[in-house]
Amino acid sequence: MKIAAVRTHLLDYRLATPFESASMRFDRRAHVLVEIVCDNGLTGWGECLGPARPNASVVAAYTPWLLGADPLETEKIWATLYNALRDQGQRGLTMTALSGIDIALWDIKGKHFGVPISTLLGGRFRDHVRAYATGSFKRDGVDRIEDNVTEVRRYQTEGFGASKIKIGFGVDQDLRVVRAVRDAVGPDFRLMVDANHGYDTLEAIRFGRAAAELDIDWFEEPVVPEHLAAYREVKANQLIPVAGGETWQGRFAMKEPVETRAVDILQPDLAGTGGFTEAKRIVDMAALYGVRVVPHVWGTAVHIAAALQFMAAMVPSPVRVNPIEPILEFDRTDNPYRQAVVTQPIEHEAGVVRIPNGPGLGVEINRDALAEYKMAEA
Ligand code: CA
Repeated sequence: MKIAAVRTHLLDYRLATPFESASMRFDRRAHVLVEIVCDNGLTGWGECLGPARPNASVVAAYTPWLLGADPLETEKIWATLYNALRDQGQRGLTMTALSGIDIALWDIKGKHFGVPISTLLGGRFRDHVRAYATGSFKRDGVDRIEDNVTEVRRYQTEGFGASKIKIGFGVDQDLRVVRAVRDAVGPDFRLMVDANHGYDTLEAIRFGRAAAELDIDWFEEPVVPEHLAAYREVKANQLIPVAGGETWQGRFAMKEPVETRAVDILQPDLAGTGGFTEAKRIVDMAALYGVRVVPHVWGTAVHIAAALQFMAAMVPSPVRVNPIEPILEFDRTDNPYRQAVVTQPIEHEAGVVRIPNGPGLGVEINRDALAEYKMAEA
């Protein structure tokens, strides 16, 4: 079996109501899928984290090394592609594009052997996971407190037991929002906060100290990802567990945060950190240092399916009768094609998501949706 074609599918949707995290404004939802076709017709799908069109360009740049290669040789292909562009960057688009390719290759491998990727990774420890709702961005033209309270209450009504609120817009306003949400949902609902590296060190510490009484599961990306000393300072000077890692790509970028315990919770992204091949090494490294892992997810059902396959195979930790189960990041913001790209949407039931058990990623692509949401030519 040989790789015969590599294609990218750019998807786009203009949001009716734009929204913001502390570091990014979203007017549209744009994502890119990677399709790898073999000479026997077997096809695998992947997805790249980050900007769609630039990722597609880098996938195209990698394509000459892929054509004619045996898709089952995932490690060999990973090393070849990484080495091909390593001098230009060990993170960023070179890694996110490589991630989308690697996910597609593992999808092919699973389909070839007729097993889910989780089986190839060593076995399924679980067939479902609890999910937390990601939302609560700052939306245009509405009162942020009222809007976030209404939104998180809705997730609670839908059966979710946890939700993440976007902060990083200003410590005092953020505290008012998180307090109002905590008051609305009561003490048993789990809340996380995500600053999208919108604070400096002093602001992050001030927020963390003031919010400690609000029972927050984790404080995500308090400061810019380059400042690992600042991460450690935030971690040392307030009580909320610190999370991060969605922008640390590849095992070398993860090494220092893990070794120096810059975070309590590491958040590698399957579609950004190097696909299954590299993410496996990263969770093994995190386990070596006793750092908890909760994968980051932001994309379509292809990305979610990859995260689910990976989470199915995550070794229970700590070893005890009822270990801490990994929790799925489940984006609830406006994106009509997120689930439309697959024939069987990956949905939750009372906050629980079943892990597909079909071959590969366990999803079938709906090509009509790819056509419907196809990005206009540049
Ligand atoms: Ca985040």
